[in-house]
Amino acid sequence: MNSADKNPIEESLDPTDWEATRQLMHQMVDDAIDYTANLRTNHVWNKPPDSILNKLKTPVPIEPSEATKVYDEFKACILPYPMGNIHPRFWAWYMGNGTVSGFIGDFWASVMNPNLGGGNHSAHHVEAQVINWMKEIMEFPINSSGLLVSGGSMANFTALTVARNVKLNYDVRTEGITSKMAGKCIVYASSEVHSCNQKAMEILGLGGNSLKKITVNIDYTININALKTQIKTDRENGLFPFAVIGTSGTVNTGAIDDLNALSEICKEEDLWFHVDGAIGAIAVIAEDIKPQLTGIEKADSIALDLHKWLHMPFEAGCVLIKDPEAHKSTFSMIPEYLEKHERGIASGSNWFSEYGLQLSRRFNALKVWMSIKEHGIHKFGRMISKNVKQAKYLGQLIENHKDLELLAPIGLDIVCFRYNPGNLPIKLLNELNREIKLKIEEAGIAVIGYTTLNSLYCLRIAIANHRTINEDLDLVIDAILKFGHQEITKLKQ
Ligand SMILES: *Cc1c(COP(=O)(O)O)cnc(C)c1O
Repeated sequence: MNSADKNPIEESLDPTDWEATRQLMHQMVDDAIDYTANLRTNHVWNKPPDSILNKLKTPVPIEPSEATKVYDEFKACILPYPMGNIHPRFWAWYMGNGTVSGFIGDFWASVMNPNLGGGNHSAHHVEAQVINWMKEIMEFPINSSGLLVSGGSMANFTALTVARNVKLNYDVRTEGITSKMAGKCIVYASSEVHSCNQKAMEILGLGGNSLKKITVNIDYTININALKTQIKTDRENGLFPFAVIGTSGTVNTGAIDDLNALSEICKEEDLWFHVDGAIGAIAVIAEDIKPQLTGIEKADSIALDLHKWLHMPFEAGCVLIKDPEAHKSTFSMIPEYLEKHERGIASGSNWFSEYGLQLSRRFNALKVWMSIKEHGIHKFGRMISKNVKQAKYLGQLIENHKDLELLAPIGLDIVCFRYNPGNLPIKLLNELNREIKLKIEEAGIAVIGYTTLNSLYCLRIAIANHRTINEDLDLVIDAILKFGHQEITKLKQ
């Protein structure tokens, strides 16, 4: 009999037996700690079998289940088939690992469950503090504005929206993109710019073609002369350049654009200077990496991703904007039901809903606040330095072996390479390397990333991983050589 049968008026979603709930929750915490402490003993990735996927497919549950049963199902069907990105040997795409204080911060964020749209309550002040820390780290003036967002995509989108509204110099919010401006408002970035910036251009009504992708140098950084020439040509053709996106750590190879040069161009040309720092911006906390990022503090706006190299559990991104008025006037909208009072919970001048697209927002700041307090920023910096050293170590392993070759300069913590025993046509080499990558992940040994550079399929190892040790890299190289050799032997049969 459930509680509804007894007293429907007093029914709620709370447990009827708090003690049983406490026990179950304790068990869950124990399991989570064991799971995290013993990650290394697990396969990095396991293919979810069809039997499991079929179990997950059910009609919407109508009647209640015991919480313990639900948890058992989680342990049987969900927990054993993770993405693997918290494992020491996951190096695909570009992800962080999470932290223990991060996951418990997320837990408490859900327990407190505040809405960070606005209001005068502790969570609001914690987010403001975390944003201030980010300004301090990035050497942005303290009166800059900022917002925690879901990630780099949303951070870039937010900054580009402000840039558009400021630089187009008419009331874009009311008038939209006028026929006079349509197709003419140009943003520049290197050809290695992350795709989310193009999405932003599309959503902003500027059109994907208005993101002009400038050729890159041999090290995959933006070609400054090509950029200057393109701006000149575009102005001559009656177009309206308004922003440049510099990338500090490209997703393919970790390349860092010459941010000082971009800043100069933007000053001369009166363009908004935005930096997509989703990968590399936070690396300023590593003393030995910081010099590579010089000029980043000159940006008008920066997109940071805290769920990447700062290892916050997903989701956590941050955008910083130097001109707080421009930021607020881009997003602020205060209907009668969001008007502020001079006292009480609805007081305070800077509600986060006035700085971005979202009204209701999660308390993502808590996990960041807890993690940074617990470890201190220097320790996070050491994790970054360590990964950069590990990328160099991996580069050495590759260069030392005749059947392996680097395919791009190592940028930050990203290594692009392939298995190449010689005398194979490109198409076959591409297939061979893809097969090696798949074999290694299907064996649960490691998850390696991939990309294609100049039509060459690359194995790509991005070591944004505070748990990786050098032996993990030895191990994956051994596996690549083993599987590579096996495939070659098969080919010869
Ligand atoms: C990951 C990434 C993004 C997108 O960030 P999300 O957090 O995935 O939305 C943007 N730019 C660069 C350079 C990235 O590496």
